[in-house]
Amino acid sequence: MRAVVIHAPKDLRIDQFPDPAPGPGEVRVKIVAGGICGSDLHYYHHGGFGTVRIREPMALGHEIAGVVATAGEGVTHLAPGTRVAVNPSRPCGLCIHCREGMRNQCLDMRFMGSAMRNPHVQGGFREHVTVEAAQAIPIAKQLSLPEAAMAEPLAVCLHAANQAGQLMGKRVLITGCGPIGALMVVVARYSGAAEIVVTDVAEAPLAVARKLGASHAINVVTQVAALDPWRAGKGSFDVLFEASGNQAALRLAFDLLRPRATIVQLGLGGEMTLPVNSIVTKELQLRGTFRFDAEFELALRLMGEGRLDVKPLITASLPFDEAVEAFELASDRASSMKVQLTF
Ligand code: ZN
Repeated sequence: MRAVVIHAPKDLRIDQFPDPAPGPGEVRVKIVAGGICGSDLHYYHHGGFGTVRIREPMALGHEIAGVVATAGEGVTHLAPGTRVAVNPSRPCGLCIHCREGMRNQCLDMRFMGSAMRNPHVQGGFREHVTVEAAQAIPIAKQLSLPEAAMAEPLAVCLHAANQAGQLMGKRVLITGCGPIGALMVVVARYSGAAEIVVTDVAEAPLAVARKLGASHAINVVTQVAALDPWRAGKGSFDVLFEASGNQAALRLAFDLLRPRATIVQLGLGGEMTLPVNSIVTKELQLRGTFRFDAEFELALRLMGEGRLDVKPLITASLPFDEAVEAFELASDRASSMKVQLTF
């Protein structure tokens, strides 16, 4: 079996990979679609992010969907041929945070295609993956496998929305319109937000945001004055979803947020300097959000019932043996939102 394996920055190869038969309680899934995520791009361009570095060859990918090929002993609910999305996250279930109901904060998390652990947890850009049966979630008949492969980033955004509380009737600002910012538009709309304003520094993603139902999509390089109406008084937005990880984007938002607004920080930005006095005097709430838990199955259900449509985000799909081209394409924000590999 072949896999898309990162060896070093800009050294992405198609390698032969072991293809173990499923053990008891496991399934072997033939992968059909896999989405390239920002973290995959960080491994590709820089060999990692922050202190997380590739120390050995690692298959990338954690946004994957496919068809059950073989069910291991004791697995009766996933017959071969069942179409599934693979949940890339495998919390231990036993540590203190798992037992406290915060499985995304697991002390012993195994997350596919992540170099946080050593040895690394191998990713899902391969022809077959063998996972615990609980990680393979059957999908609705009307849902395509490429859409099902969007369950992971959508789950991230549903988890982020849960950090913000009720969005019904709220004014929402989303800074940064990569795939996560764009999916936040979809989620904010579904959650009843009254107004959704999206900012970015590039035109193409803003066009996607408009297509997804953003009320306003503003280029902060060429139309910064367009945000002035929301600066009135002490500011207008109830909630900020910061999806760029860029300090300038976050700082720009402070004047636009009304007192007691909630900031949900999705983008990983490393060290930032923040106007703490604004946080104090406007009584702002600053919250982080990391990965997801039950939201993975919720994402599949909402897409499967046709309540959310992620199709406009998928801008290209390439065969996995053209992974280098696909990763380069995914890095070009002027032409790509979500690029997927096909297997
Ligand atoms: Zn745990």
